[in-house]
Amino acid sequence: QVQNLERLKGKENITQSGQKIDVCANIGTREDIENVLRSDAGGIGLFRSEFLYIENGTKLPTEEQQFQVYRLAAEAMGTKKVVIRTADLGGEKQAECLELGEDRNPEIGYRGIRVSLDKDEIFKTQLRAILRASAYGNMSVMFPMITDVEEVKQAKLILEKIKNELKDEKIPFNEEIKIGVMIETPAAVMISGELAREADFFSIGTNDLTQLTLGMDRTNSRLERFYNTHHPALLKMIRIIANNIHLEGKKIALCGDLAADLSLTEKFIQMGIDELSVAPNQVLALRKKIREIQ
Ligand code: PEP
Ligand code: MG
Repeated sequence: QVQNLERLKGKENITQSGQKIDVCANIGTREDIENVLRSDAGGIGLFRSEFLYIENGTKLPTEEQQFQVYRLAAEAMGTKKVVIRTADLGGEKQAECLELGEDRNPEIGYRGIRVSLDKDEIFKTQLRAILRASAYGNMSVMFPMITDVEEVKQAKLILEKIKNELKDEKIPFNEEIKIGVMIETPAAVMISGELAREADFFSIGTNDLTQLTLGMDRTNSRLERFYNTHHPALLKMIRIIANNIHLEGKKIALCGDLAADLSLTEKFIQMGIDELSVAPNQVLALRKKIREIQ
C-alpha cells in the first residue's frame, strides 16, 4: 500500500476525465516541513503560524525568530507556494505569551484577525517577518476568521504600511505578495462575492465553518453524534463560495479537515474547488483518490 502511494510522487493530480486539482499540505510545526517535502505536496496551503506563539512560553516570538521559520519553509519549498496564515490565536489555541482575557465562548470570542487588528503591534511584527521571508521563495499571506470586508481592508492597510517601512529601510521583500482570505464564518460565505474583490485567493476553513454553521462547538466531544460534517447546509455553502470566487476569476482552496474526507473528493471537484490542502500524511492517499475519479 505504502509502495503504491510512493509511486504517485511526481505524477499529476488529475481525474480520469482530465480534471486537475492542486493538492497541498497544512502544517502546524516546524518539523512538519520535512513531512511536506516527503509527501511531494504541491505546496503549503496552510501554515498555522500559531505554534510559534504557543511554543514560545511566556515571551512573544520576535520578528527575527518568526522570519527564520518562515524563511526556512520558503527555501525548503523552492518555487512551490507557502501560504502563511497570520496568527489565529484565541479559542482553542491559547498562548502563554499573549494575555487574551477570559471568554465565555472562546470559539466565538476574541480570536484570529480580531486579535491581530486589536493588538496591531504584534500583528505588525508578524507581517514584517512574513514580508522579509517572502524574498526567499513563493510566499503569500492569509487572514483567518474574517467576517467583514472592512477587516480585510484594515489588514491590507497595515500590510501596506509595513511594506513602505521595509522599502524605506531597503530590506528586500516581494512587493507583489499575494493576499488570501479564509472563508470560515457564515458571514464570509454570504459576502464571498464582495470579499472576492478584496483578495487574491481564498481558502475554506471547514472546521470553523462547520462549528459556526451548525452552532456546535468543534471541541465539545458530547456533540459528536450531532456534529454532521456532511450537513447539506455546509455543502451548499461550499458550492456558493466556489461560484462567487470563480465569478471574480480567482481560485478557491479548501483547507479544513473535510479536505481529507475521501468520500467528498469527487463532490469537491464537481463544485470546482481548485485546491485541497490536507495534513502531510494524507497527501498521497488524496492524490490516489483523485486519479481514480472518473
Ligand atoms: C478551519 O477552520 O477549517 C481551519 C483550517 O483553521 P483551523 O482549523 O486552524 O481553525
Ligand atoms: Mg479556522
